[in-house]
Amino acid sequence: MLAITGPHDTAGVMKAVHAHLPRPHGPYNDLVPVRLTPPHYAYLKISEGCNHRCTFCIIPSMRGDLVSRPIGEVTREAEGLVENGVKELLVISQDTSAYGVDVKYRTGFVKGKPTKTRMVDLCRALGDLGAWVRLHYVYPYQHVDEVVPLMAEGKILPYLDVPFQHASARILRLMKRPASAERVLERIHRWREACPQIAIRSTFIVGFPGETEAEFSELLDFLEEANLDRVGCFAYSPVQGAAANDLPHPVPEEVKEERRARFMAAQEKISTSRLQAKIGRTLRVIVDEPGVGRSEGDAPEIDGLVRFVGGTPGEFAQVLIERADEHDLHGRLE
Ligand code: SF4
Repeated sequence: MLAITGPHDTAGVMKAVHAHLPRPHGPYNDLVPVRLTPPHYAYLKISEGCNHRCTFCIIPSMRGDLVSRPIGEVTREAEGLVENGVKELLVISQDTSAYGVDVKYRTGFVKGKPTKTRMVDLCRALGDLGAWVRLHYVYPYQHVDEVVPLMAEGKILPYLDVPFQHASARILRLMKRPASAERVLERIHRWREACPQIAIRSTFIVGFPGETEAEFSELLDFLEEANLDRVGCFAYSPVQGAAANDLPHPVPEEVKEERRARFMAAQEKISTSRLQAKIGRTLRVIVDEPGVGRSEGDAPEIDGLVRFVGGTPGEFAQVLIERADEHDLHGRLE
């Protein structure tokens, strides 16, 4: 077989391969997609493994310590994806803000230009590609503050997925997570000052071993104050091999569930009022399917949707927001 394609033309290569070697059709093969996302967005994995040792997590014992991909390789992959029609890059890893720590922020090359293996440099390089760039799993290190101005400038999406996990200093210590709640709140306020349109998503664990009612209340107070856009909440469940399993005073199942329900009810009010505040605004959305899109503040699968009539999948559209429910926005194309 001989075919001529561009160096990053994955779709062209696949087409040529399938012209000579059709994909076998069958109930099993058809259930195994080659790429799991629609053509207009793609996940971009920047590293593997993690240097943290959160006591509820076994990822480091399974995947090892952090190994960052060379910055030139990551940006070349991103470029190839964009050339093939990807309009939104979802940056993922176990710990996105640690990117490059393992190689001491070694200098690599992006289009011949010396560039450090560092989150902020990566964001700048990806921002130059003209696609939406969305950051996931950002551990709340100090230097996260450096990427917020890039969001304000419109280089990358004003969106941060930062798993805070808890707000009580004692529980965070038991989890081996960083930062005190007050400092986190201060930083959230600063991020919003620097980039008022930023959407912040987080996840939390309730019912961690030893969590008292007072510590849970602290978490609820934090939630009120942080005023986050989107939040996921898990009731703690022991994972085989996790250090937290050995901690004393496990929280009874029914208490965990009751706390999770209270947490979600409190957050639902917050998320709803943040969505209500968007009514009357025109938002840029990426259309996932006719009538369904996502704004800059909505990641695929985990956040809400923008609903309207019409639209072409994979294209951007402007939608005037007319109403909101607890999860989604509704409007009309402009
Ligand atoms: S929870 Fe995340 S940051 Fe913590 S050890 Fe697991 S992968 Fe690393």
